[in-house]
Amino acid sequence: MSTCVVTGGAGFLGSHLCERLLAQGHRVICLDNLDTGSLRNIEHIRAGGFEFRNVDITEPVEIEEQVDFVYHLASPASPIDYARLPLHTLKVGSYGTHHMLGVAKFKRARFLLASTSEVYGDPQIHPQPENYWGHVNPIGPRGVYDEAKRYAEALTMAYHRQQGVDTAIVRIFNTYGSRMRAHDGRAIPTFLRQALQNRPLTVFGDGSQTRSFCYVDDLVNGLVALMESDAHQPVNIGNPDEYTLQQLAETVIEVSGSKSEIVYEALPTDDPQVRQPDISRAREILGWEPEVSLADGLARTIETAGRERLTGETD
Ligand code: NAD
Repeated sequence: MSTCVVTGGAGFLGSHLCERLLAQGHRVICLDNLDTGSLRNIEHIRAGGFEFRNVDITEPVEIEEQVDFVYHLASPASPIDYARLPLHTLKVGSYGTHHMLGVAKFKRARFLLASTSEVYGDPQIHPQPENYWGHVNPIGPRGVYDEAKRYAEALTMAYHRQQGVDTAIVRIFNTYGSRMRAHDGRAIPTFLRQALQNRPLTVFGDGSQTRSFCYVDDLVNGLVALMESDAHQPVNIGNPDEYTLQQLAETVIEVSGSKSEIVYEALPTDDPQVRQPDISRAREILGWEPEVSLADGLARTIETAGRERLTGETD
C-alpha cells in the first residue's frame, strides 16, 4: 500500500481527491489548516487508511511515515479568498511549496503541484497551450494568486532540475462539483445558489467573456493520471468546451428548472476575457480527456451536493 500526502485535502478538490485515492487502496494523510476548507468535506470519510492533520504548511512540515506521493493542493483559490488573504496566498505558494517539495525530496516521493490556468493571465492566444508564457498583471488584485502559482511552478522546476526531485505540474482550469462553497464568489456556485432560490443570476459585464468548466470527477482522473505518469512539464487539465457566461447562466437555469432572470453587473478588475485549455498534451501523454458535459455535470452537482448546501442554508 502506498502513502499519499494531500495538502488542502479538506477543500473542494482535495476532498474529492482523497476519496479517490482511498478507493484505489492508497493510505492518505490529509494536511489542511481549514482556512478555506472544512472538516465537513471529509467527515463522511471513514476509511481506515485516512488521517487528517490540522497543519499550516507555511510552517515547516514534519512527517514521520514513508511517503510515496505528495499532491500539493493547499492554497486559497477563489478571488474572494485571495483578496481576503493576499499575504497568506503568497506565503502558501512560496514557503508552503518549499516545505512540501522538501518533504518530497527527503522521502523520495513524486510531487504534484496544483497550478492554475491563471498563470496565463488575460491570455493573448486562444486556446492556451502549455508553452504559452502568459499575460499577467503582477500588481493587480489577482497578482497575489497568479504570481504565487507562477513562483511555485518555477520552484518546482528548480527542485526537479537542481535536486532531482520527481515532480509534476498540473494547470487546472475552472472545475466545479459538490462541496464548492455557496458564497465563494465563483460563477457556478453563485449561479446555482441564485437559480435554486429563484433569484436573478448576476452576470458580470455583458456575459460575452468565455470560460470552460470541468466536472470534478474528470479533473480528479486527470490529477491521478498525471501523478502516475513520468511527465515533468506542465499539463493543462480542463474541459475544452467553451461557454460564454451568458450561456452558462442559461444552462444553469435550464438544468435547475429555475424561474430566475439574468441581470448584468460591472466586470471585476483584470477579469480574463477568454479561457479555454488546449488539452493536446494531456491527450497525448496521459490518454486523458473529460467525459462529463456541462449540463450533465451541473445535474450531478445538484444531485450530490443537495439544495441546502448549494443555497448556503447550511454553511
Ligand atoms: P479550496 O479553497 O476548496 O481548497 C484549498 C484548501 O487548502 C482548503 O482546504 C484550505 O483550508 C487549504 N489551505 C489553504 N492554506 C493552507 C495552509 N497554509 N496550510 C494548509 N492548508 C491550507 O480550493 P479548491 O478549489 O479545492 O482548490 C484546490 C487547489 O486547486 C488550489 O491550489 C487551487 O489553486 C487549484 N485550482 C483550483 C481550481 C478550481 O476550479 N477549483 C482551478 C485552478 C486551480
